[in-house]
Amino acid sequence: MSAASQPASQQSEWHTTACILCSINCGLQVQLDGREITKIKGDKANPRSRGYTCEKPAGLNHYQNHADRLHSPLRRRPDGSFEEIDWQTAIREVAERLARIRDTRGGEKILYYGGGGQGNHLGGAYASATVRAYGGVYRSNALAQEKTGEFWVEQRMFGGRPEPDFENAEVSVFVGKNPWQSHGFERARVVLRAIAKNPERSMIVLDPRRSETAELADIHLQVRPGGDAHCLSAMLAVMIEEDLLDKKFLAERTRGAEVIVEALSDVPIADYCERAGVPEALVREAARRIGRAESVAVQEDLGIEMAPHSTLNSYLEKLLYALTGNFAKPGTMNLGTHLAKLVGDSKGDPRTPVGNHRILTGLIPCNVIPDEILSDHPERFRAIFIESGNPVHSLADSRRMREALEALELVVVIDVAMTETAKLADYILPASSQFEKWEATFFGGGFPNNVFQLRAPLMEPLEGTLPEPEIHARLCEALGELSLDDLAPLKAAASESREAFALAFAEAMATQPQLRKMMPVVLHRTLGPALGEGNESAALLWGAAHSCAASYPESVRRAGFEGEGPALGEALFEAILSERSGVVITADPYEETFARVELDDGKLDLAIPELFDELAGLRDEDIVRRDDAYPFVLAAGERRGSTANTIYRNPAWHRKDAAGALRMNPEDARRLGISDGGRVRITTKRGSAEATIEITDSLREGHVTLPNGRGLEYPDGSGKRVVSGVAPNELTASEDRDWFAGTPWHKHVRARIEAVSEGAAQPV
Ligand code: SF4
Repeated sequence: MSAASQPASQQSEWHTTACILCSINCGLQVQLDGREITKIKGDKANPRSRGYTCEKPAGLNHYQNHADRLHSPLRRRPDGSFEEIDWQTAIREVAERLARIRDTRGGEKILYYGGGGQGNHLGGAYASATVRAYGGVYRSNALAQEKTGEFWVEQRMFGGRPEPDFENAEVSVFVGKNPWQSHGFERARVVLRAIAKNPERSMIVLDPRRSETAELADIHLQVRPGGDAHCLSAMLAVMIEEDLLDKKFLAERTRGAEVIVEALSDVPIADYCERAGVPEALVREAARRIGRAESVAVQEDLGIEMAPHSTLNSYLEKLLYALTGNFAKPGTMNLGTHLAKLVGDSKGDPRTPVGNHRILTGLIPCNVIPDEILSDHPERFRAIFIESGNPVHSLADSRRMREALEALELVVVIDVAMTETAKLADYILPASSQFEKWEATFFGGGFPNNVFQLRAPLMEPLEGTLPEPEIHARLCEALGELSLDDLAPLKAAASESREAFALAFAEAMATQPQLRKMMPVVLHRTLGPALGEGNESAALLWGAAHSCAASYPESVRRAGFEGEGPALGEALFEAILSERSGVVITADPYEETFARVELDDGKLDLAIPELFDELAGLRDEDIVRRDDAYPFVLAAGERRGSTANTIYRNPAWHRKDAAGALRMNPEDARRLGISDGGRVRITTKRGSAEATIEITDSLREGHVTLPNGRGLEYPDGSGKRVVSGVAPNELTASEDRDWFAGTPWHKHVRARIEAVSEGAAQPV
């Protein structure tokens, strides 16, 4: 696997890159020996992470070099095995198959899934050209099993995605979130420790588990699983009852407040607290602390998004800060700029072609994908193009997802590794790793300073692989959407000067609609070569920098760039291209937040009538209900110190919790006669699996948890392929989802637990 060793002097050289394991993308410095990453430390020059990292990137060599890396395009044989083919054949055949489906069935029958992970978004950005080339209409990715409900609520209420300012907040609130393990903001552990140490500041955590973050909190609302909406409603009702709302802010900066206040004002607080399993006094204390603070920042996460009332939970969580005026000032919630929009809109109430499910922010809910395939409906999907995604493992109901992929006429996968999904593909196109190509992330970059980092490759692409932008350019050419003649004038202009290119590009986009459609790939094939061989993928950032400078000229100038019009965009692009540790691209004063509210009258819209019936229905909901067939609530996919996303396929990356234990309360373990380390069988309505038990009093009775990222197949020391731990989605069901956004209830899976090993049946 390793290339020949480098001389010691080169091995001790530090190279700049970033961690690719979560959305924060902390800056890293690494040392290399050939293709091996040998040493890793935080990059102090990164303006966002400032030298911070958690423990997880220490194993990144396991992502870069492992036994499941792909080395050649693969084509499925009729018997299900794969054969290696050359790139020319692969591109030609994939393009022909896509074109055949487009011409016979319609391009809208080809679903695009994925488009990036926690740090590789350039491929997805270039993919928009390929999707247009095959006439695609529908898309989905893992955000549609997590954040689409939240995105939709944010767009409705704020016309943007507010960011929490925990560094400066007097009160920090985490709802269904454990930032100690799942991060979600810069330097999470440093900030959490600082809050915990400061007696003037408070931390409030709403979580059914006493997580690492809850351990640091001043108030932990250890809510009953499924009781989030009741608990949040009760907190809001206390704020109304005790006159804790910011009436001036509501009158001047919002509309619709009176409607939601009325809907919440008759919530039976004591009853809701009891049903949510939290003491009323603690709920009142939390509401008062928020209502009386100078500044409050709030963040939610999968704990409430992947649970019953997902979209409603997001709405209630946002009302905590909107009703108390914690917006557009230090320590609260603010709207920043973006280099490119990650989130689409939901205008016109688009629906899926078969089941008429809502498509929020441009993404089909992950949980309905199998229904949109496994049907005899004439509009069903016939093919799927999957890029940097592993839906068979990461989406609900793996069995049904496998069935769906097997029913399609064509499955194309672009990936770095042979994944559970790639195994079902007709064609696999191997991508270069994130350290072998130019890469970037379009996740939010921070407020008030928005940081963007374009990462240079650390090494040559692994032989046989290509960066995704090159794959998309070749596919678009093979689909007949780009001709050398069309591109020749732009290419000539790019080799002359950036200024000449800008003029030629503007004219081409205005006069040649077929090129406008293919814009990312046009940049790659024209400006790309002028950036130097191997650097072509960075060309897309030229367009993004100009668009950012044109949209937010003052913010770009405040970040230190000079120039008017295109000169400002050029200055920004040059900095993105040359600053290896990342660059502050825009800087905003807090009050600028109101200028970013993309709503008609610039006022926050606090009433979402679509969710009012569900809110009212909480009164009749029996969340304490016991299901004797499945008496436990399983959170399938808990973030732990020993978990990361599935780009770590080799389980050797972590030593602790190798088997991925099922965590359980001591009282439950005692009743089942299981001791720590014992083996149990977990059964849900969808599947069954065995796991080792870890007993912990951090969980409520009746609540059990399994880690995320486990259940991947990987060769052991003898080469035999073994599965390590439980794949959570072998236990989840696609029909268990939010009625509005379609987001799954991974944190609320009804389960039965039985002891299976004799040695385990020892009372604790
Ligand atoms: S917080 Fe940890 S996992 Fe996330 S990017 Fe930083 S180092 Fe990587």
